[in-house]
This record gives sequence, structure tokens and C-alpha cells, in this order.
Amino acid sequence: MKRILSFLPLAVFLLLALSCEKRPGGDPQIVAAVAAVNIDSVKSYIDDLVSFNTRHTLSSQTDPEKGIGAAVDYLAGCCERWAQKAEGVRPRPVIERVLYTVGENGGRYDRVQQVPQLMVSLPGTKAEREILLLAHIDTRVLDVMDSTTFAPGADDDGSGLACLLETVRILSGVPLEQTVKCLFVSGEEQGLDGSRHFAARAREEHWPVQAVLSNDMIGNVRASGTGLREDHKVRVFSESRSGEDSDSRQLARYIKEMGAIYVPDQEVVLNYRTDRYRRGGDHSSFLREGFASVRICEYCEDYERTHQDVRTENGIDYGDLASYVDFPYLVRNIRINLAAVMNLAMAPARPENVRIANAMELDNNTRLTWNPVPGASYQVLCRETDKSEWMPGLPGGLSDKVDEPGFNCPLSKDNYFFAVRAVSPGGHPGLPAVAR
Ligand SMILES: [Zn+2]
Repeated sequence: MKRILSFLPLAVFLLLALSCEKRPGGDPQIVAAVAAVNIDSVKSYIDDLVSFNTRHTLSSQTDPEKGIGAAVDYLAGCCERWAQKAEGVRPRPVIERVLYTVGENGGRYDRVQQVPQLMVSLPGTKAEREILLLAHIDTRVLDVMDSTTFAPGADDDGSGLACLLETVRILSGVPLEQTVKCLFVSGEEQGLDGSRHFAARAREEHWPVQAVLSNDMIGNVRASGTGLREDHKVRVFSESRSGEDSDSRQLARYIKEMGAIYVPDQEVVLNYRTDRYRRGGDHSSFLREGFASVRICEYCEDYERTHQDVRTENGIDYGDLASYVDFPYLVRNIRINLAAVMNLAMAPARPENVRIANAMELDNNTRLTWNPVPGASYQVLCRETDKSEWMPGLPGGLSDKVDEPGFNCPLSKDNYFFAVRAVSPGGHPGLPAVAR
């Protein structure tokens, strides 16, 4: 009896977790991980990060309390502590401090120097593919060359760093099939140098990267100039150059879908651009190397906060301080990241060679074929040609679930785009492959 009682709270929690799901197929382990994102932890990371005065790429690497060196020590120290709880639960996280050289090609540097960044790998039990999460360590004020003035960077990009830290903390206790790598990069404000270094390494070392999610400014809810406040929407930017069905865009749609299942009170707004006007981010470095990459970013931006010297001028307070971060909003954005990353890390590979087998026939049916994915079942997706998001199911009540590779349906290939994705036995869908 005692034994049964001790299991009761867990059973009640799982039931509650399941009943909170809007759709069947929500994984209780992911529901629990998403719920574990803790607002007090997130606040403490950002307070600690602000306390380093500046994290400018060229700031001190030797001062134990100030500058980028102390900040990297702090980030690595947190992750090393959490890695210990992985013992016996999951493959142990690997923490690697990385040095690279900046200033050799001029740019926003007044010297040639080695600068630090950090990579924390959470190895998968199968480790066939990798999902990368990015945020930048470095901060700046109005003068991008100023490496000593107080540059708190609570939102830009303390919010993204908090997302990565919370991910490492929570996933250190959860075994996943595929590898999740958290890249804490520097050099972003000087010209995306740290992410360029990592992206080149990923290509040279043939990292099996499936998805790159860069979190850069995910904690602000107020728009300067207009006063608009939006605390239940977050943007996911995906590039437009390779068309409606680029890998980055499929990834963006996937994040929106997982967000809607696991964090239904926050809306993911797809933005079909690489980034905002006159702004860039670390996802671009990975895009250039051919990886599927998106930027996750707050819906409203406050130009009185980011890249500003902390000051009061004409009655307006400037500066990127922690007091302006909306923590419940930030927590929801971290949860969306976790939901997407965990699903991807439990999902099968993308099916290959997805074809419309009767493309050359005048036939109002559509016949799809693809290569088998071991151990997976499949889901067929479709959308009308003027729509940008996959429908939640097939029209006319047709079942979209398929056990064997191959699908025949009475929907005209002239009226729809089709895609296929593999689904794990646990119900985790992978990224879709569009039928050509
Ligand atoms: Zn930034």
C-alpha cells in the first residue's frame, strides 16, 4: 500500500499533464521538462550575468569578477555542476571552452587577440543527429568598440543565455536520443565572429546538424516609439531566399507547431525574413554554411534598451537592465525552445526521396512514395498552394497516418503541396520532407 501511495503523486501529475494537452500525442516527459523551467532560476542567471559589468568580446579575460572571462567561467561552472546530476541518467554532458582569434581582418577590433566562447554538448543515446541552440555572451553600448563601460545585456542577450542555461539544467536529467549542443558564442556584436567560427567548424568536422535555433533577445515585451506591448507572441525568423519550403522554414513551422502543443498560451509568429531591418544574428553564420537555421526573437523591440549606455536623458531611462525583462514572457519562450528541441531529439530522421509517383499522369489521385525510415511510422501533410502552413490533418477526414512508405489519396496533386514526415513509436514527429 505504501508503495502504491508513493507512486500516486507521480500518477496524478502525469494525468494532469496529459489533460493539459490540447492534442493527443503530447509526451509526458516533455510536458514535465517544459513545466520545470523555473522563473527564479531564470532571474538569477540574468542578475548574475549583468553583474559582470560588461561581457564585451574585448573585455577582460583575467578579472575574476568583471568581463567576458568571468562570464564564461560562470556559464561553464553552472553547466559543470548540472553535468554531475547526469551520472547514471544520461550520457554525461561535455563542456568545452573554445578560443578563437579575432581582429586579423580588421573590422570592429583594435587588436588581434584570442577570445573565449563555450560549447556544451548533451550527447544523445543514439547521437545520429544534432540540434544546436545558440545565444551570444557578448554585450555592447552605443560605441561598439567600448569594452569597459557598463553594458548589462539583460535582454541582449542575457535572455538567450538564460534559455541555454535552463536547457542544460533540465536536460542534464533527461536522456534524449539525439544530441543537443548549446553554443554560447562571443563576437556577435563585433560581426558574428564566434558563430562564424562554430559554423565553419561544424562544416569541417561534418557535424550532423539537423536544426539551429538562435535565441537572441527573447525577454522584452515593449516597443519603443509606439508603446505597443505584446507579451504572448514571439517571432521565429526563417530565410526567404530558398523559397517557401526551405529547410529553415520547415524548422520554423515545426517550432510553431510544438509551441502550440506544449505552450499554448504563447503564439509563435512566423516571420518569413532572415532577420529584421538593419539587424543580423548568429543564425546567419549557420545559414551561410548551408544549415537549417532560424532566429527566435521577441515580438516587440525596445531601442531605448539594447545597445544603449545606461543613463537618463530628457526623462527617458536607457539601458538593457534586468528590470525591463518580462520574466513570465521569457519563461514561455524558453519552454517553446525546450518543446521543439526535445521533440526533434526524440524524432526519427527526415524521409528521403519523397516523390509524387504519378506526377506525369493525368490522375486526380496523388500517389506518394519515399524511402523507409527504420522503426518509424509516417504522417502525410498537405496544404493548398497559396497557404504557408501545413494543415492540421488531411481534408475530407482522410487519415494522415501511414505505417509503410507509400500513400495513395483522392486529393489532386494540382491543388495541394504534399510532405511526409517520420514519427517515432513515442509519437514524436520529425521534420517534413516535401514531395517533389
Ligand atoms: Zn543580440
